[in-house]
Amino acid sequence: MNKNDDLLSKIVSLAKRRGFIFQSSEIYGGLKSAYDYGPLGVELKRNIANQWWRTMVLEREDVVGLDAAIMMHPKVWETSGHVSGFSDPLVDCLNCKERFRADKAPQLPVGTAVTYRQGGKPNGKEISSVVGERGYVCPNCNSTELSDERQFNLMFRTSIGPIDPVDSFINEIAEKKLSRQELREKYEELLSKSVIYLRPETAQGIFMQYLNVQQSLSMKIPFGIAQQGKAFRNEITTERFIFRTCEFEQMEMEYFVEPGTQRQWLEYWTSERIKWWQSFANNRDNFRLREHTPDELAHYADCCFDIEYRYPWGWDELEGVASRTDYDLSKHAAASGVKLSYFDQTRTNPDTGKPGWRYTPYVIEPASGLTRAVLMYLLDAYSEESGIDAQGREKTRTLLKLHPLLAPIKVAVLPLVKKDGLPDIARKIVEKFFKAGINASYDEQHSIGKRYSRHDEVGTPFCLTVDHQTSTDDTVTIRDRDTTRQERIPIDKALEVVKAKL
Ligand code: ATP
Repeated sequence: MNKNDDLLSKIVSLAKRRGFIFQSSEIYGGLKSAYDYGPLGVELKRNIANQWWRTMVLEREDVVGLDAAIMMHPKVWETSGHVSGFSDPLVDCLNCKERFRADKAPQLPVGTAVTYRQGGKPNGKEISSVVGERGYVCPNCNSTELSDERQFNLMFRTSIGPIDPVDSFINEIAEKKLSRQELREKYEELLSKSVIYLRPETAQGIFMQYLNVQQSLSMKIPFGIAQQGKAFRNEITTERFIFRTCEFEQMEMEYFVEPGTQRQWLEYWTSERIKWWQSFANNRDNFRLREHTPDELAHYADCCFDIEYRYPWGWDELEGVASRTDYDLSKHAAASGVKLSYFDQTRTNPDTGKPGWRYTPYVIEPASGLTRAVLMYLLDAYSEESGIDAQGREKTRTLLKLHPLLAPIKVAVLPLVKKDGLPDIARKIVEKFFKAGINASYDEQHSIGKRYSRHDEVGTPFCLTVDHQTSTDDTVTIRDRDTTRQERIPIDKALEVVKAKL
């Protein structure tokens, strides 16, 4: 195991041990690509989401929020291009049977010499080969024995309503002799009557409500609509814990701008978004911008920047900031017959030279993964420090240096011992935090040293300890997670001090 795999596996283990993230349906062997967020994970995830909402919606006059339904009319996905084009190239390795995405496989120059083991087994016969025209090998066993690529649509589809399409299909074909092609066509035809997709992105919900939002709030261009919510993709390869899963959460904003100004707004949002991610991180150098090459650009975009993070396996996407042109609004307007445009009476129509300009807005879209962000901030925060314990022994302290605004528990209140009235005093203090809406935890189990370690490991930035001196002078110690330094403060200042530090 190399150092980087090691970091990811330490995060996976800490996440389970300390109640951040659990495998879904674990008692039945787990569902491969779904995860549940435990008591601390849900707090961390909400804190990231709330900070995003605050920056993107609450602190801005030009952006408003939306919470659209996950299920939408199937025409949405036909028109947006997802039904025909939202697919990944799927390949089967004929040697080890791994199924993988061609575009994510190790890319090697044509003609490179490679070796791999028969069947992908460590003791299999060694086979020598060279990389063929397609320029990649199996990510699992390095083999060049690969099936043809076929496009695999990532949308989950199901049916709505009380008709079972399988029943209808069986009834239709029972007495007929049909070719494979005819069977497929019949099946698709019957399914299309009740088909419904789980949304693979939150963006289309925003395009659907562009006009309602613009008109009901009289929004003036430029303006944005922001949304957070679940998205679903039947990913060929789910990988790296919560980095890529089939069910995940997105934080997306569509910012509607005047045609011709998209480049300036793309630059603005790219710079705003990278600064935002960095503002909660310990290692700012682990973020970078990467412009898409023309062949990577999505069909709807004229330019796109990825905000990438340096994960243990290398640079990879955290957020995409795309210039989506007027593609979606124009397509939906044409398909629905509803004008999804904007009239600006203060502008002159550049084509006619007359006052007043009606146009289809261009769109800048910062789109990020909330669940991916949880992993990124856990990786950023994980730290091990060596030190000497009270007995003079060497020991390693594990801590999550989470930004205080993201930390699941902001303050732990700890009575030094479970007697002498100290628990009562501690409970009164913790109540004050509860009432102030600050997530606090009362903890009296085990030695004080163990409790500090436990809270360091989950990223609690402050611990307040009630000791015997507290009963005589109404002071407590406040311990800082990162420096471990402690100072005494009056009990009645505790809430104020923690609030100020947050
Ligand atoms: P990737 O190249 O990683 O597949 P993408 O370019 O398809 O991602 P977008 O469609 O731009 O992703 O989605 C916006 C964001 O949603 C991504 O930057 C990522 O953070 C997140 N995201 C996309 N797919 C997944 C997934 N399967 N699991 C978790 N997060 C995801």
